[in-house]
Amino acid sequence: MADVVIRGGTVVLPDGPQHADISIEGGRITAIAAELGDAQQKIDARGLVVMPGMIDVHVHFNEPGRTGWEGAATGSRALAAGGGTLFFDMPLNSTPICINIHEVERKRTALEAASITDFGIWGGLVPGSIGEMAGMAASGVVGFKAFMCDSGLPEFSRADDRTLRDGMSEAARLGLPVAVHAESEEITRALSHAMTGRGARDFLESRPVRAELEAIQRALRFAAETRAALHIVHVSTGRGVALAAEARAKGVDVSVETCPHYLWFTEDDVERLGAVAKCAPPLRPREDADALWNELVAGHIDIVASDHSPCEPAMKSGDFTSAWGGIAGVQSTLPVLIDRGHHDRRLPLERLAELVASTPARRFRIARKGMLASGYDADLVFVDPAQSFTLQHDDLQQRHKMSPYVGQAFGGVIRRTLRRGETIFADGHITAREGGRFVRPEPCRIDLVSRATS
Ligand SMILES: [Zn+2]
Repeated sequence: MADVVIRGGTVVLPDGPQHADISIEGGRITAIAAELGDAQQKIDARGLVVMPGMIDVHVHFNEPGRTGWEGAATGSRALAAGGGTLFFDMPLNSTPICINIHEVERKRTALEAASITDFGIWGGLVPGSIGEMAGMAASGVVGFKAFMCDSGLPEFSRADDRTLRDGMSEAARLGLPVAVHAESEEITRALSHAMTGRGARDFLESRPVRAELEAIQRALRFAAETRAALHIVHVSTGRGVALAAEARAKGVDVSVETCPHYLWFTEDDVERLGAVAKCAPPLRPREDADALWNELVAGHIDIVASDHSPCEPAMKSGDFTSAWGGIAGVQSTLPVLIDRGHHDRRLPLERLAELVASTPARRFRIARKGMLASGYDADLVFVDPAQSFTLQHDDLQQRHKMSPYVGQAFGGVIRRTLRRGETIFADGHITAREGGRFVRPEPCRIDLVSRATS
């Protein structure tokens, strides 16, 4: 007899939704079919959509060393409440930063102790860390993160062009991707110096679209030269996505990530909400957000990730210019995509599942994750698409209840999350008993292949 059977849900399979039951044994899916036999635990999913658990490839849970800002205990609970079952933690803002094998091991130990979801680890690419990349690869990192502009943390230095290019060569040799924060240091620094004390408006103008486009072009050129796999994080404009799509058509191995906040908010919200909506690249004008949606619907965006970047509340209060830049929205990715993507733009559920589950798993070569299929881990999220909710502070599972999404209304409610067959979130409550496990890339190299084009 199976451990769990899920009955009567609309199951989002790679080729579309289908009414089916799902049986689970030992944390894995054993069958997806109509009218499956009995199991020890029966879960009723009638009226609900069952999707693969979300894989958030970009979070800052700050573990170890800066858990006063978040920590994986609360961060992973918030992820689970948002329908997520696996995250990749960035090499900053943990303390120390994660730029060698020793720190990867330390982070792994800390995450194993704290996380209720499964997790992967990004290594850092900074000046001087290229010699450490092979060791980090051996310890199982999913790739290497570099900043093309100031990171906001003095200890995580910007990768100058030489570091970035040499780092990409080494990453290509190791068969792992390099993720870049693409904003031009030259442009943003010059404009920051010219700020005149107008707070949010100054900040927006100091980080223009052209600073992002210039950096994206440069990163794409280095990727073409080194044949590295490039992952461009948090692209905020349709023009940035288009540059990557052009390069891809010429054979560059590039994947594009955007974040829910660029799809939900605009720069007007930065002025309205203040520092809680401050991030880099900044929120953009309405036209850019619309263009970003068009690129997403056209299939040119590969992955949507939260870039959950929390801090202590005091760092978000007071002067806008000195406030921490980062949006703490890990719980809201799926609601944004269901409301504005599925409901408003008729984005099919299977496309949505690609953006947050199957493409992340394929791009980063995580086996048995990201899809609902026999033999895969039973990582699932149940969504009630017909219900709606308004996000309240108390709904947030993260450490500090600060999110620009508080007060926003969403069509589509997340009812339950299962990680390897265990219900870790149900009807507003965290129910996990077991902890999360470390995942690492499969050794052989698989490039990003098929992509919807409509
Ligand atoms: Zn980030």
